[in-house]
Amino acid sequence: MSAVIQKQEHKQPHYDRLGNLALAMALPEQDDNEDELQKALRLSGILQTTLDINKLIEIFAHEIIRLVDYQSLSYTYNELDINHTIGKAAAHSCTYRLVVSGESLGELVISRRKKFTKAETTLIETLLCGLVYPLRNALLYKKAIEAAHKDPLTGVNNRASMDEIIDREVNLSLRHNNQLSLLAMDIDRFKKINDGYGHAVGDCVIKAVAEAAKAAIRSSDMLFRYGGEEFLILLSNTDRDGAQLLAERLRQKIEETCIICDGAHVSTTVSIGITCLQQGDETRESLFSRADAALYQAKSAGRNCCRFFSAEGK
Ligand code: GH3
Ligand code: MG
Ligand code: MG
Repeated sequence: MSAVIQKQEHKQPHYDRLGNLALAMALPEQDDNEDELQKALRLSGILQTTLDINKLIEIFAHEIIRLVDYQSLSYTYNELDINHTIGKAAAHSCTYRLVVSGESLGELVISRRKKFTKAETTLIETLLCGLVYPLRNALLYKKAIEAAHKDPLTGVNNRASMDEIIDREVNLSLRHNNQLSLLAMDIDRFKKINDGYGHAVGDCVIKAVAEAAKAAIRSSDMLFRYGGEEFLILLSNTDRDGAQLLAERLRQKIEETCIICDGAHVSTTVSIGITCLQQGDETRESLFSRADAALYQAKSAGRNCCRFFSAEGK
């Protein structure tokens, strides 16, 4: 297994290829290197204690500031949307692309007002050897957790994550007296699509509906696939008017979209049930059951429409 730390400084690429931590530790021959290597070893030991990526970067930042003076340290891993920055970026920076066994572990940038010396960059590189393997473990762990909570067809949150997240959001909103709305959305006459075009086209329609919902919501909202062609959308800090507006916009968007799958042009519609959090003894179950009842009301009203929960309409 090999680790590559690619350093780029002042737009003049410079590559250092290091084997693994043990090899890196065997490289320096000067007297004062023993100290550096012990520091790298100690750092590596500390970094093994967590699988939390943000914590890992903070420990790393905290440990190296004692050895190399810098103003900012920033770690980015786009695949998991990770961007953790400590401090404020300054004029001189060193950028390291972290690679283990050909696998990218993201990019780390360290900056300060004064140029880094050769001795300092060598030390940073030695210390990075202590970071890459704990970082790789933390990334693998985060990917496994995310995969367990994602629906493989649509990439949205699956049912396994739903109860826990809705419970948490209901409790938070009750505690802080925040608005919270829930939409239950179901594709209309979906069986006909499966029967008429086949299961693969059916899957493609489910994906297209999920994409439309993803595009309609804000980053703080949450989308779940909780059944075959059924979705829940949790809207934080959103009142009845906001939820109804979004539901209607989404319904229209899906109605107007021509979905092209395997050469077939398919159109579809959805029905949406809407409800809002009620202060008092609200629970995930009571909120969900009103959204589901409202969806039933929308289906009964002829489909391709949105309905806000009404106790009379039950
Ligand atoms: P309604 O308007 O009342 O919702 O009618 P519907 O036909 O959409 O409702 P129903 O619940 O009867 O049918 C849902 C169908 O979805 C039945 C099932 O075979 C199909 N289904 C469930 N999961 C999947 C999936 O992952 N992919 C595909 N292609 N079909 C699925
Ligand atoms: Mg349906
Ligand atoms: Mg259904």
